[in-house]
Amino acid sequence: MERLTPLFTSPSSPVPSPCLSRIVYCISTCMTSAITAEIKSRAKAAFIGLAIGDSLGAPVEFMTASEIRAEYGILQEIVGGGWLRLKPGQVTDDTEMSLCIARALAAGGGWDLKGIGDNFAAWLKSRPVDVGDTCRRGIRNYMLNGVMETPFNQWDAGNGAVMRMLPVALYTLGDDALLEKCAVEQARITHNHPFSDAACIFFGRLVHLAILGYSRNRIRRELEGLFSVSDNFRFDNYRGLATGYVVDTMQTVMHYFFRSRDFEECLVSTVNQGGDADTTGAIAGALAGAFYGMDEIPKRWIKRMDRRVIDEVSLLAEKLLTFSPLARGGLKAG
Ligand code: MN
Ligand code: MN
Repeated sequence: MERLTPLFTSPSSPVPSPCLSRIVYCISTCMTSAITAEIKSRAKAAFIGLAIGDSLGAPVEFMTASEIRAEYGILQEIVGGGWLRLKPGQVTDDTEMSLCIARALAAGGGWDLKGIGDNFAAWLKSRPVDVGDTCRRGIRNYMLNGVMETPFNQWDAGNGAVMRMLPVALYTLGDDALLEKCAVEQARITHNHPFSDAACIFFGRLVHLAILGYSRNRIRRELEGLFSVSDNFRFDNYRGLATGYVVDTMQTVMHYFFRSRDFEECLVSTVNQGGDADTTGAIAGALAGAFYGMDEIPKRWIKRMDRRVIDEVSLLAEKLLTFSPLARGGLKAG
């Protein structure tokens, strides 16, 4: 006689129902299959790469390439020091502001601009080791007047909005239109300039493609499309300027990303250009991390980092992916 298996059994049931376990297996794989182990690794590597690039570059922030050469030869270790007198492995505003955004989104209530603003405000009050002038002005305006969008300012073409874009890219993976909306909204809390907006959007797109495993050539082709809209970011004739001007910053990152063959080479060459080295390092680290994945990040660098930061960014990267449109139901091209 055939034994009937109940469709639902309690967890304490001594005989697990094969039927139920098949249903549970199907539901769980159907819901999460879009987010593969590889995508998770790339997302995690992107956030860890951001922190590493920040920490690697910060000691040489505002130095010229030749000053760095005179002092370090080639800087390839996380040494601390610099004008901020950092501990080795300490991160700065680039990682901290990214964390502010990631924590607000990981709380799970959906896109939360006010949550991001509140986290920025709490961070500013905590006397951070470094904060850019444009960011400070925007956050204070939010704190004092509740302004979520700072008015247009011709001097707002700094890199302060794009340096904190990674969590937004993770959160919007799979939906270009959502990326665009969220990128610009978060940017304008502090920066309102078309170059800053454009950089935030196209950096987010690059991160999406890298995390989804697109080839270097495919990513390069995507950039060509973006350059046809905004020619300023072309980096074919790189002039070696790595300032905080968002156009210089993005040219530096792309120049070194496309010439290097691995994560380490990308970050070392980027930060040794000097200038806004922690920020170019952070942005390059996020992109290279997304492109190369966890296995390519030098272990000696991870060991040098503040353990709490590495643990938190790893958790947040995975969490943000689970809220992404890709996890919730597939790709949407915008
Ligand atoms: Mn910084
Ligand atoms: Mn910087």
